[in-house]
Amino acid sequence: MIEAVCHCGSIKIEMPAKPDAVTDCNCSICRRYGTLWAYYPAADVRIHARPEALSTYSWGDRRLNFFRCKDCGCITHWMAVENPLAGKMGVNIRNVDPEQMKGVRIRHLDGALSWKFLD
Ligand SMILES: [Zn+2]
Repeated sequence: MIEAVCHCGSIKIEMPAKPDAVTDCNCSICRRYGTLWAYYPAADVRIHARPEALSTYSWGDRRLNFFRCKDCGCITHWMAVENPLAGKMGVNIRNVDPEQMKGVRIRHLDGALSWKFLD
């Protein structure tokens, strides 16, 4: 089990396993957030947070909600707006103890233009 925790500890996310790879995306939102994403079926992930501890952001076609901690501001995860538990979700691995992520490959996604991996 891998755990992601925001800086203040209000939000804890449990993932079933270490990811094979994480994604560094250069799209307009990810490059600003500085996130590294691990993807999981949403049904396999547990989120421990008071609902009022989270705030969300979405834009454009509003298919995804990006969640952050209202207290410390850390970006924690994204989920689909519609049927969020049915599809996949992204967890920001920046909130995981780096020791636990040692050796995990970082892939570079050109989310800004081609939507292809650059490596
Ligand atoms: Zn926090």
